[in-house]
Amino acid sequence: MEIQTETILRTENLKAFYVLDMHGTQKIVKAVNEVDLAIKENEIYGIAGESGCGKTTLLKALFNVIEPPLRLIGGKIYYRVNWEEVEVTSLSPEEKRRLRLEYISYIPQGSMSVLNPVLKIKESYQDFIASHVPEQSRKETMELAQKQIVELGLPKNILNAYPHQLSGGMRQRVTIALSALLSPRIMIGDEPTTALDVVVQRGVIQMLKEIQRKLQNTIILVTHDMGVHANVAHRIGIMYAGKIVEEGTTIQIFDNPLHPYTQFLINSLPKFGDKMMRESVPGSPPSLADLPRGCPFHPRCPYTKDICRESMPGFSYPDEKHRVACWLIGEGEHGKAS
Ligand code: SF4
Repeated sequence: MEIQTETILRTENLKAFYVLDMHGTQKIVKAVNEVDLAIKENEIYGIAGESGCGKTTLLKALFNVIEPPLRLIGGKIYYRVNWEEVEVTSLSPEEKRRLRLEYISYIPQGSMSVLNPVLKIKESYQDFIASHVPEQSRKETMELAQKQIVELGLPKNILNAYPHQLSGGMRQRVTIALSALLSPRIMIGDEPTTALDVVVQRGVIQMLKEIQRKLQNTIILVTHDMGVHANVAHRIGIMYAGKIVEEGTTIQIFDNPLHPYTQFLINSLPKFGDKMMRESVPGSPPSLADLPRGCPFHPRCPYTKDICRESMPGFSYPDEKHRVACWLIGEGEHGKAS
């Protein structure tokens, strides 16, 4: 499953905070806090973590849509476009818009923000093309839509249906199909399988994999569902309290999770034939507006020691492609998940 490729999107020390005015008092929510990523072309990169850890905000920043109250406080985002690296945060609003139209697409949570309930699916395709490639004729759009629908194995008559005539899973597939229509080099998916039952979820995952295989592009996928990551991702970044705390190949994360938080996430998954009680992460995530000093996981961590309460650890690299931010790595004080 692992592949050798070039970096297509990277961030340097990215900080994106919500700055809120609470009756004259400023409240700062540190949703994305010093994140360094290097995402490769031709890979599916999963971002995992509990609700409220900053995953969706990180996606917004990577998609380069940072609007008040969200602010880019620091750091840079780079896309590699036509063999050149472009620092996207410094582009003009029009340049950013063009890049989003031509280069990168976004699959939102749920389909109804994409599909207009009073338009047939074919009209949503026409609207989409009209906003992205206005010079393309209706006839060409319909040919493109028909071709894509056949290639992705969607029902041929779907173009004449209204969204409410489709199941939730089918609407989500259409949403993903639309986001892939113009062959973007990067697709960003925000919980695209949430609220779907497992059978439908499997179909959506298969479709994402098929699109990535066909386009040889990059998919960045956020979900809290580790089972989805196990099925679809080549590499996974584990996010906690606005930070990436562990990153590795999917095999490294599942076979050798090293950060105590990752170990809890993996241990809480049901295992075939194992009737032992699953252990969930103790306590609850910290408020991003009031983070604890030091390692933000220390109030929940069973291995906390003094230094954890004082300062945030940097990354250790226990293996090629595997990095972990934990003071205990290498000291043998906590074992791997079993
Ligand atoms: Fe736990 Fe300390 Fe590691 Fe944080 S740095 S995860 S508190 S052991």
